[in-house]
Amino acid sequence: MAITDVDVQNIVKQVLNQLSDTPSRSIQEETGIYHNIDSAIAASIRTQKILHRMPMEFREKIIANIRKKTIQNATKMAELGVMETGMGRIGDKIIKHQLVAEKTPGTEDIVTTAWSGDRGLTLIEQGPFGVIGAITPSTNPSETVICNAIGMLAGGNTVVFNPHPGAIGISNFAVQLVNEASIEVGGPDNIATSILKPTLESADILFKHPEVPLLVATGGPGVVTAVLSSGKRAIGAGAGNPPVVVDETADIKKAAADIVNGATLDNNLPCIAEKEVIVVGEVADELMYYMEQNDCYKIEDQLIEKLAETVLVNKNGKYVIDRKWVGKDAWKILRAIGVDADESVRCIIFEAGADHILVEEELMMPILGIVRAKDVDEAIEIAIRLEHGNRHSAHMHSKNVDHLTRFGQQVDTAIFVKNAPSYAALGFGGEGYCTFTIASRTGEGLTSARTFTKSRRCVMAESLCIR
Ligand code: NAD
Repeated sequence: MAITDVDVQNIVKQVLNQLSDTPSRSIQEETGIYHNIDSAIAASIRTQKILHRMPMEFREKIIANIRKKTIQNATKMAELGVMETGMGRIGDKIIKHQLVAEKTPGTEDIVTTAWSGDRGLTLIEQGPFGVIGAITPSTNPSETVICNAIGMLAGGNTVVFNPHPGAIGISNFAVQLVNEASIEVGGPDNIATSILKPTLESADILFKHPEVPLLVATGGPGVVTAVLSSGKRAIGAGAGNPPVVVDETADIKKAAADIVNGATLDNNLPCIAEKEVIVVGEVADELMYYMEQNDCYKIEDQLIEKLAETVLVNKNGKYVIDRKWVGKDAWKILRAIGVDADESVRCIIFEAGADHILVEEELMMPILGIVRAKDVDEAIEIAIRLEHGNRHSAHMHSKNVDHLTRFGQQVDTAIFVKNAPSYAALGFGGEGYCTFTIASRTGEGLTSARTFTKSRRCVMAESLCIR
């Protein structure tokens, strides 16, 4: 029998009444944002106790409303995100929010495994960890908050976010949206909590809190290493530098269009986006010709060095990306290096050796270095080196199954997209679900609700097998 709205609201009221220390609150009074991390954790612990006693169908009810509100607020969040961080493109961010709303798995992702036979019935059921501590990046801020919140809630958890300080406004907007979605369908607040001023210190308190058994970090190498050093179970979704290989058998015109489309989504902010191209020499000129036909601007010689001087900074003797250019429009970067570029330019391309700093670094800008290789073997070897062992994402355009298989096996990444833009891996123009937390370093791959659950075996010996 299907559960009705009235049933759901009665269940919530019942549970809330039983927990006398947890009064029901209105949206205006509380939406999950706290002054300090200890209060955010305490509220999350309270709500998790409520959630744990609610039916799965009720979790799904809340998730359905999170999806609805995300679609309703997609444009607003896209605008706020670009305004606050100065990164990305509003149109693309709208698409990313719609993708999160429509394609992030909910409770259907939680599956039970069963064995029944002469000796009875055994089940493996997926249960919540409890309160999860999550770190989110500035590059896909509200997308990651909503995606994590849906998956974690589907698994029966609540979540405390310590968002990126550079995207705190938009991240907390998303946290509030999640709680409002719950309250609107009669659920509890504090499904997700966050703080007003996240710091490394607040992250550290979250990492060490005894009642936070699982940590999930989406960000660069620093934060992933920090959660993995916590002594707790941790899921690390770290940096990538996805190479895309193009061999002589590929449909070059399509490859060029796909690469430009993938690399320019949200101005190259997604960690899965093509970051450099390695092309077999005999088709390199044709590829670059078609890339230029797809709104790329090719620079040469001195301009390449000027570009490097502009978008990189020397930090203690090492060149690192200048954050001020991350996720910026290609034409703005071009104008900064003295090229009077048209606003229709989507991407900057240049030819360079595999050891060029702009090819080696994960720029997260609409800039693609093109490296020529003498054959597919050399292209694969270069691509693997440029992926830096992140085991994150790699892509290839080829019609040769042996080449595709060899690169896929050798690069050994969580994502390997063939003959499509990188974003096909997120379920956009490709099959499969969406996530913005790709656990490259710890091996869970594309996270979903089941990633945020622990497995429990329930055994009934000698009975309940009715065969
Ligand atoms: P970042 O690494 O600069 O920051 C991420 C968050 O971690 C921030 O909240 C920051 O304050 C915090 N942080 C950093 N060091 C910390 C530490 N030692 N302890 C506690 N917290 C710490 O990330 P960003 O620049 O916003 O995001 C870009 C990076 O994240 C890129 O490298 C990108 O590839 C990666 N990324 C990966 C995924 C994935 O799913 N694998 C998704 C998005 C971004």
